[in-house]
Amino acid sequence: MSNLDPIYVTKPHLPPLEDFIPLLQQIWERRILTNNGPFHQELEDALCKYLGVKHLSLFSNGTIALVTALKALGVSGEVITTPYSFVATAHSLLWNNITPVFVDIDPVTFNLDPSKIEAAITDKTTAILPVHCYGFPCDVDAIQEIADRNGLKVIYDAAHAFGVNCHCGSVLNHGDLSILSFHATKVFNTFEGGAIICHDKDTKQKIDKLKNFGFVGETEVEATGINGKMNELQAAIGLLQLQSIDVAIDQRSVISSTYREQIEKIEGLSCPPPSSALHYNEAYFPILVKPEYRLSRDGLYEKLRQANIYARRYFYPLITDFSMYRHLFSSSPEKLPIANLVASQVICLPIYSTLSTEDLDRVLAILAY
Ligand SMILES: *Cc1c(COP(=O)(O)O)cnc(C)c1O
Repeated sequence: MSNLDPIYVTKPHLPPLEDFIPLLQQIWERRILTNNGPFHQELEDALCKYLGVKHLSLFSNGTIALVTALKALGVSGEVITTPYSFVATAHSLLWNNITPVFVDIDPVTFNLDPSKIEAAITDKTTAILPVHCYGFPCDVDAIQEIADRNGLKVIYDAAHAFGVNCHCGSVLNHGDLSILSFHATKVFNTFEGGAIICHDKDTKQKIDKLKNFGFVGETEVEATGINGKMNELQAAIGLLQLQSIDVAIDQRSVISSTYREQIEKIEGLSCPPPSSALHYNEAYFPILVKPEYRLSRDGLYEKLRQANIYARRYFYPLITDFSMYRHLFSSSPEKLPIANLVASQVICLPIYSTLSTEDLDRVLAILAY
């Protein structure tokens, strides 16, 4: 075992503590702790501006946002989604009594392969739930075309895609709704938190009603709402994080370039091509460990652990490998060859704004050794 300090796959970004104190004082003075408070409203406005989206509704976390988004659109029956994601993507469907139908991914972007979607559509299909995996944009035009042709809704799990821009501005403007996560491990965090992005005021009103138990005014409840509200502490942290997010992403970008430059020289390791995004958030740094490498993927993973470096095998196992999803017709590995291959080769390397050059060199030394 190495006695060097541990390096984790990410380290949450935090504002200086002294900047948080005046905001805490305001919360204490106002005694407004939650329920669409002033910081909550301010953060919704600030995020709309920063992200380049029209309407955004904050949530207590990304999973409740996903569950609520599906509810808001009345999605039912079957939904086409990816096995190559965090389990919350598929869980949000089960919470709405929807059957997930898993479709294989593209080997370059790791996102749903549009050319395989239509074969999975049945008369029960009502929507597509793609993920912008690692913040790499999905083929949004191809997906929208398929959705339009078949009368389907599109809800993007954009948990990784904070601040990602594609050919026509924010990638979050695609589909009917997009969902963000502000979990501690994400590029932009409010400790726990999330949001739904929508395109019009009426939809935002509906979402805001659903996240507050379904209340309309004080005396009427008209939907099976939930408690998905973000509180004032979370919103205050979010306002501070926003001030330094661009610097943090720039720092991630320097790390990402160094990794890319060094790893391209190592036989058997490959980096995905630079993101097609016009502005990428450097949320993750996945590499593939090919058969030509001198160690297996798990061999490398263990070797890093022995050096006190905790890289993560996102997304291994696939959602379709979990016992509770394995029995589904669409989960069989023969139907998902690319997802299974990528899941067997991937490792996400440590990347965060404060990763030091020394620590980066420690990671690279293990890879190259
Ligand atoms: C983090 C994540 C979620 C869940 O977000 P939480 O805020 O942790 O509930 C959903 N989908 C994906 C792809 C994620 O990475």
